[in-house]
Amino acid sequence: MFAELLNPANYRMTLFALPTLLTASTMLAQALMVPAPERHSRVSVSFFVMTLTGAIWLFSYSLVYCAQTEGAALAWSVIGHIGIIFIPPAVYHFTITSLQFYHRYKRRVWLIWEISAFFLVIVFAGDAFFAGVRLYWWGYYPIYNWMGVVFVCYFFVLMALSLREYWSACRAAVPSVGVLRSRALFRAFCVAYLGAFDYLPALRLPVYPFGYLPVLGFIILVDRTIRRYRLVNITPQFAAKEIINAMDDALLLLDSEGIVRVANRSACQMFSRAETDLEGASLSTLAREFAADPDELASRILDGSLRDHECLIGAGASVVSLSSLVMHDPGKVPIATVCMIRDISRQKAAQLQIKRHTERQAALYELNLAATSTLELSGVLDGLLERLEDLVPRTTTTVMLLDTADQQLHKVACRGIDETAWKEERRADGEPVHPVLQTKDVMLVPNLDLANAGLDCGYFIRQGFQSYLGLPLVAKDQVVGILSFYSREARGYSDEEINFLRSLAGQAAVAIQNSQLYEQTSRQAIALEKANQVKEDFLSVMSHELRTPLNVISGYATLVQEGVMGEVNAEQSKALDKVAHHAGELLFMINSMMNATKIEAGALTVEREKFLLADLLDELKALYDYPLGKEVSLEWDYPTDLPSLHSDRDKLKHIMQNLINNALKFTDDGTVNVAARQLSDTAGVEISVTDTGIGISTEELPLIFDSFRQVDSSRTRAHGGVGLGLHIVKTFTELLGGTLKVTSKVGYGSAFIITLPCNDRETTTPNLTVHR
Ligand code: ADP
Repeated sequence: MFAELLNPANYRMTLFALPTLLTASTMLAQALMVPAPERHSRVSVSFFVMTLTGAIWLFSYSLVYCAQTEGAALAWSVIGHIGIIFIPPAVYHFTITSLQFYHRYKRRVWLIWEISAFFLVIVFAGDAFFAGVRLYWWGYYPIYNWMGVVFVCYFFVLMALSLREYWSACRAAVPSVGVLRSRALFRAFCVAYLGAFDYLPALRLPVYPFGYLPVLGFIILVDRTIRRYRLVNITPQFAAKEIINAMDDALLLLDSEGIVRVANRSACQMFSRAETDLEGASLSTLAREFAADPDELASRILDGSLRDHECLIGAGASVVSLSSLVMHDPGKVPIATVCMIRDISRQKAAQLQIKRHTERQAALYELNLAATSTLELSGVLDGLLERLEDLVPRTTTTVMLLDTADQQLHKVACRGIDETAWKEERRADGEPVHPVLQTKDVMLVPNLDLANAGLDCGYFIRQGFQSYLGLPLVAKDQVVGILSFYSREARGYSDEEINFLRSLAGQAAVAIQNSQLYEQTSRQAIALEKANQVKEDFLSVMSHELRTPLNVISGYATLVQEGVMGEVNAEQSKALDKVAHHAGELLFMINSMMNATKIEAGALTVEREKFLLADLLDELKALYDYPLGKEVSLEWDYPTDLPSLHSDRDKLKHIMQNLINNALKFTDDGTVNVAARQLSDTAGVEISVTDTGIGISTEELPLIFDSFRQVDSSRTRAHGGVGLGLHIVKTFTELLGGTLKVTSKVGYGSAFIITLPCNDRETTTPNLTVHR
């Protein structure tokens, strides 16, 4: 049959098929266009079904006319009857719905659908319905057998029934929109039923089936009717029904007996019941669905005292908010109770999420505070574990830290277990690296019995723990340890929870790393201080120990030179000069070291006395009155009437000696000038040591005052020295309340200028002890 149906050779083009085809298309277009503007109301959907049945009829009959073989014609006749058979129930359904009698005649409507379905079965089973097809002058046409005739009768009965319904509606005394619409539809159906003439050729009367013409007329009339009156009657009752059905909240209207009289669509969905089931159900039965005392809840609903009462429904699947209100008649007699049930599960979930989020933010903030308030590792770990106790309940938390030296994990802190027993449990030799360290990622083990090797969880298995969550403590891309959670039941962790713990672990890792660094720095500082102390002790002991024999050498050299121990010849005197000179230099160096040690120890004292600057300069001049051994002339330029100073004479002498020694050391030829003058603008003196030596570069200048700092090792080696001189000069000058300035140019020389306050008057300033 299908082969015949699909073979194009079995068809021809015929003009007789055209009008039916066009009418079918127009009907289909109308069928599709009506439901949307009518908001898919029940009546518009029944209209759609009705027009669809007509369209199937006319479309299939167009192909019957085109068929060239009896087989193809019969096949399309059968298909066409899928539409024709259902025209009577579809029309009756539409009639009843458009007249808003659906609820009253619902059973009758569905009975008619069933009868039609029975006819359809007969159409497909055997030849009781069709006697075959006949070739008329316009093409093939199906011929009815006895069952076909019965169907025609059934068709006319239903036609009459539909028209009678409209007729009674039309005769209503008050003409309303509904009445006007019923009249228009009555006329449209009267026209449409003229299409029943198409049954004549099926009953062997050769009358051209012009049924499409009245159908076209029907389409036009119905179109006008819908445009004018629409299909749905917008009465207050209809609007109320629509509104309550459009509500998201479930609504139950209960009578004083607690029986549901009206239930909206949301209520049907909430209780998973059909409207018909729900309407008529008792409140006490429905109240059992809530996780509350059903009797108490039902009575509170009925007395209208519930306002936003929250409870669970559907075995705790949803949270709802219940409100009820008693309605009274004009005589204030209670007539019904309205119960509104709002599903607030999403709102609750969102609130819960916000609360959790806020709690977690607060926890992160607190952890941050705790971590920054202490730099001690134990304090940081305590703070972390304390917060985790509240944030991840029902778990035991441990922290293991990685020792970067031996790459071993060390158990450092825990909560909820016996710490000593846990720490005593040693990791088995040859056990693989902990999987969290390997992957540097979060690891969840729901069942510890099946845990990966390397997890080192024997202790926890014995203690009856079941699941494990491990997070790497990562700071600056470096794993510093592992934060682990063990729980006794099979505990799951949501993605959100894991993400939160991950950020918490990150923050904790930074705090842990900081405290580790702090502890390391503190250890180093202590070690450094010790080393410094040893150095200082050594220097001061050595200086003292060296000074005594050196003084003895100088003393004996002077005694011998003065001839106390016998006649000294010129050569011996020269040698003794050298001994005295070098012993003096050595003593100066030892004094420098002692001074530097005192500076480091912060134990310098200023011994003030009144002295004449010119006298000090004279003394220095005499000290340097010996052959320098190179082409350098040492010039002295100071007036004899220089003011007296109230300062530490020895320190100033030491300053001057350092500067003059340096100038002589770093000048191979030219002059070294020592000058002093009284400053007119300030009550002070300026002493300068200028040379024409090798000079100091601008980059080196800021460094020359550091202790043990020598600008250039090769140069230093050529000139000797320990790099303490200028450090002492600067510290002493500042101690005496003066300033030190240096200007220098490589290859031209340097100038060191000291300004000191002077006081002619007797000063009362006490001697100072300075602690640095
Ligand atoms: P040192 O014992 O090496 O002389 P100082 O602290 O006295 O130590 O001087 C530090 C460095 O400053 C010297 O090593 C030297 O390089 C530089 N310096 C000091 N005085 C002069 C100068 N008058 N001319 C050139 N360089 C100098």
